[in-house]
Amino acid sequence: MSNMPRRHFLTGAATALVGGRLIQNAAGSPVLPMAELTAKAPLIVSTWPFGKPSNEKALEVLQAKGSGLDAVEAGIRVTESDAGNPSVGLAGIPNAEGVVQLDACIMSGPGHRAGSVGALSGFRHPISVARAVMEKTKHVMLVADGAAAFAALHGFETGPKVSPGQHAAWKKWKEQQKRAEKNHDTIALILQTASGDIFGGCSTSGWGYKLPGRLGDSPIVGGGLYVDNEVGAAGATGLGENVMRYCGTFLVVEFMRQGLHPQDACLETIRRIARLDPKGFDLSINFIAIDRNGRFGGAGTGTGFEYSVTCPAFSRVVQSPGVTTADIGPVGGNRK
Ligand code: ASP
Repeated sequence: MSNMPRRHFLTGAATALVGGRLIQNAAGSPVLPMAELTAKAPLIVSTWPFGKPSNEKALEVLQAKGSGLDAVEAGIRVTESDAGNPSVGLAGIPNAEGVVQLDACIMSGPGHRAGSVGALSGFRHPISVARAVMEKTKHVMLVADGAAAFAALHGFETGPKVSPGQHAAWKKWKEQQKRAEKNHDTIALILQTASGDIFGGCSTSGWGYKLPGRLGDSPIVGGGLYVDNEVGAAGATGLGENVMRYCGTFLVVEFMRQGLHPQDACLETIRRIARLDPKGFDLSINFIAIDRNGRFGGAGTGTGFEYSVTCPAFSRVVQSPGVTTADIGPVGGNRK
């Protein structure tokens, strides 16, 4: 924030103008004006501030003439390797039995290809295993023991099924059976290469202390990730149950296909889901999106969802606008 030109942000303000509408930003945090939600490819966008080093790795790969898939995989591996990240990779929070079960998905715009793994234990890089499912099998998704057997067969790097720190926290949880309120996150990373093609991937340890075998939205094509080379891509983070029931990222991409700016597509998806869901805005879901024209955006049900944007000209964390209950529109049908 400190070295950012003042005009880039509406700081301390309660409102921001998004897509021509006045959007409340209750946290009063910086929101990038709509006109600046654009960059010249290669462009990489990922969820949360912890995505920024992943973006930068992906850019490095692209600038060294690596492929879009290489960039997605290398970028996400950075977050998966972060021993301090409790929601991605083997340092993540385990399931109710004390075992970390990882979900990941990768998609290539060219060829409209996808690969994913779910409930994978004991392997450091689920994103790489997901890519191998896409490239080395006729399938899209492998889960649990089958995914682990496949990963072992292809020699992927193994690791402990839970870190010592998370094991200690799990034991405490087991005694108290008390859930932390927010104990999950995902790295979803979507990008456009200099030649215009779109790729994406996501990876997570999912909902902390989940039931063994639970899959979230992340390995589900159109749930936690969707890439359409004609239109753009979207990624999700938040409570997967509230994303996968609505094909959240597919919806974001379809709104972009209808002409919405990525930011408006994320906002409209949030409104649509919040209108339909009995929980309204209490859903804890967030989206990021890019389109083929180099535009990007994000939105969440809460205030203050942050995402990372990287291109040759800059690499920064951006705050998405909040959506208020007043902005939800009437129940039943399109608000417009
Ligand atoms: N969507 C992930 C899941 O439900 C978690 C998150 O992104 O917060 O597994």
